[in-house]
Amino acid sequence: MIALEEAQARVNRQLSVLDEAAVDLRDAVGHVLAKTIISAEAIPPFANTAMDGFAVRAADTVGATKDDPVSLPVVATIAAGAVSDRTLQPGEAMRIMTGAPLPPGSDAVVMVELTRPNGFDVDVMAEVPVGNHVRPAGDDIPEGIEVFHPGTLLTPGHIGVLASLGRQRVTVFRRPRVGVMSTGDELVDGTEPLKPGQIRDSNRVMLLSLIEQAGLEPYDLGLVRDDEASLERALMGGVDRCDAIITSGGVSMGDFDYVKAVLTRLGDFSWMQVAIKPAKPFVFGVLDGVPIFGLPGNPVSSMVSFELFARPALRRMMGRLDADRPRVRAVSTESLRRHQDGKTHFMRVLAQESADGWTARSAGGQGSHQLLAMATANGLAVVPDGEGIEAGDIIEVILLD
Ligand code: AMP
Ligand code: MG
Repeated sequence: MIALEEAQARVNRQLSVLDEAAVDLRDAVGHVLAKTIISAEAIPPFANTAMDGFAVRAADTVGATKDDPVSLPVVATIAAGAVSDRTLQPGEAMRIMTGAPLPPGSDAVVMVELTRPNGFDVDVMAEVPVGNHVRPAGDDIPEGIEVFHPGTLLTPGHIGVLASLGRQRVTVFRRPRVGVMSTGDELVDGTEPLKPGQIRDSNRVMLLSLIEQAGLEPYDLGLVRDDEASLERALMGGVDRCDAIITSGGVSMGDFDYVKAVLTRLGDFSWMQVAIKPAKPFVFGVLDGVPIFGLPGNPVSSMVSFELFARPALRRMMGRLDADRPRVRAVSTESLRRHQDGKTHFMRVLAQESADGWTARSAGGQGSHQLLAMATANGLAVVPDGEGIEAGDIIEVILLD
């Protein structure tokens, strides 16, 4: 057996970030920025009003109150998108709408709620300081600054900023398209009644959803039978169409575990016995530039193996700096028993955060075929080799979504 860290290092050594691509802003969310964004324009581009109201000179409002307002003639109305062609003179006001540029000569806005119409005049009922409700040019983003750095994961907020800066395309790292195939003669795809010995293929759709949830692009490579020719065909087809491939099943010690056999024949693949439970067997290598992760078929093993090997590696390929799941230290509210076997166990737990910190308890059956507990769990407790832990002990928990 080899240590988990060594197996992970073997994967990481052979991976690199995918190339850069310019994508339309509409397709950019969820990608990682590859180039620094510098603001070509100031946002806002001009000083404008944050309120519907009246542009004035602050000095003209001195002493104004509700009972003793200052009356100013209203000499123009400025809508958002319009520009005043005249300068505000002392003792004048202009009606102005949110977002409209401040007219030259004015230095403050009185919100409409603090005014009262008075014929062709407006009664200003409060004294306002210079700059009142004025959004100066560049108040959000000055021109010529570094706005976003490479490695930024683009969220809708980033997309909004890029749009306001007039960008239509943005350079990102390509997101790997990750193909998934299930292998196994016992597997059934679909809803037909099961014949004796058959089970339904659950791993493929599960892995495809894990890929999607990890922010990667899932690609279905189908269900493949346990024979070398079919596997080779499916793998070579996948290599042509995908940036990475995940297989499930066929990597253990069984007589028909052909994934291991085919991969080690096709290229420089290492078959590893990793000192973890579940998910001990694992195959990894790169075929024609496409990394292939051979995960074990037991559903929980498949998922844990994805979490420990594939997810962080694939996220690194798309430039994510936050490739790994967060980890917390939690108090176990019950004992988690296990036997000494030279492996680190990843137990499915329910982790909960309270004012006193995190607690964790078992999510149910810990067999590698018991997917229900994995489904309800929100964490993997890292239980080191030994006899397990007692209630009240501290354990490390990998937080899942
Ligand atoms: P294997 O890794 O191929 O030896 O499979 C180990 C166990 O996982 C067996 O009980 C398989 O029937 C089961 N298994 C393999 N692939 C899948 C799958 N795609 N969906 C559900 N169970 C599977
Ligand atoms: Mg199998």
